[in-house]
Amino acid sequence: LRGPFNKAVPIIQKIESHNHKAYFVGGCVRDLLLNRSIGDVDITTSAPPEVIQTIFEKVIPVGIKHGTVVVVHEDIPYEVTTFRTEGVYSDSRHPDTVTFIDDIDKDLERRDFTINALAMDLAGNIIDLFDGKEDLKKGIIRTVGDGNERFKEDPLRIIRALRFSSQLGFEIYSETIQQMKAVQSEIESLAVERITNEFEKLFAGKYVKNGLEYINIIGTYQFLPIFKDNPSLFSKIPKTIQPLASFGEVIALLHLLENNISISEWVKSWKCSNQVKKDAKVLVESYNYYETNGIDEWLVYTLDNRYYEGFSRIVNSIHQENTNHKDLHHMNKQLPIHSRKELAVNGSDIANIFPLLQKGPWLQKMLTDIEKAVVFRELANSKSDIKEWIKCNPPEAN
Ligand code: ATP
Ligand code: MG
Repeated sequence: LRGPFNKAVPIIQKIESHNHKAYFVGGCVRDLLLNRSIGDVDITTSAPPEVIQTIFEKVIPVGIKHGTVVVVHEDIPYEVTTFRTEGVYSDSRHPDTVTFIDDIDKDLERRDFTINALAMDLAGNIIDLFDGKEDLKKGIIRTVGDGNERFKEDPLRIIRALRFSSQLGFEIYSETIQQMKAVQSEIESLAVERITNEFEKLFAGKYVKNGLEYINIIGTYQFLPIFKDNPSLFSKIPKTIQPLASFGEVIALLHLLENNISISEWVKSWKCSNQVKKDAKVLVESYNYYETNGIDEWLVYTLDNRYYEGFSRIVNSIHQENTNHKDLHHMNKQLPIHSRKELAVNGSDIANIFPLLQKGPWLQKMLTDIEKAVVFRELANSKSDIKEWIKCNPPEAN
């Protein structure tokens, strides 16, 4: 067993020692078989949550009612979920009722897609009741059971199908596509956060073009916040889009495609965090500077280097260019200063040169002008050079 699984072995062993069944399940088994890097290792078990709580020391009761707790083992959190069947999802968030059961078969049956309905025991035996392994080999996303019913039960599965097509580059089974089409108007009843959460992964997917192409073909955009009121907007997403690692990048790109829809509107309609809003603002601002000036020292200087990669992805998505964030980091290293604090003069130095002038906006402007001149290497960062420069460029009378 590969690394992340190895670390979880003691959890399964312990559950088994209490005469319950336990398996690795879902995404981690799928990714193991695909040789993809493994995210979270999830465990499914016949033991009820109360039992898990008593046999492990560190347990976080994240969703006892639904049979999910998090077991923390050697500082790594594992979702441990009791075998269950589900009732209807009347709040489009959680099933109204769940019934704990003793058998894994019915638990696998409630899962969304055949490729996600795989379980594995400690010996590495795979339980595959719905030909998930075959679908993994063929690269196909197909529902467990009748898609019409499964999508109606939880319309989020429609978005999840698209998300997996974007992450894995898989084809969606033709019947599944028809069923997604038939049910997709119901995604409007979902809690928006759930949609956003899946879309964040969709836009970050290695095969994002594949996922977006399906959204286009199936017409899912007609039922998404904002897109549904701007039907031509979705087709404006450039065909040259690259995987976008953060949702701030996504919002920035969407706003740049249609300036009439503000960042705030996107953030509100898609229920994003303040961090996403801030990231989007920073990225849009730097992109707009880039549109008129290209990549220059001032852009590299003013943009926090945490954003270099995201900025490059946006530029490359829109212009199909090859802006490399490494070049930005290299340019940053060559800059004569990295912040205003490194300037050889400060505000009071300048104010002292003009004792008769009241402090005011002119001072900020002058500091910025000096900063720019230094960053562009038109002016050396020394007190005497800067004072000389100030004499030649006195503050404008106002
Ligand atoms: P990732 O690697 O992105 O975490 P994942 O397959 O683990 O992918 P999760 O959202 O973490 O996806 O869900 C874990 C598992 O739970 C899935 O593999 C699937 O078996 C099941 N599952 C999750 N959401 C649903 C749903 N809405 N309907 C049915 N089964 C679901
Ligand atoms: Mg997961």
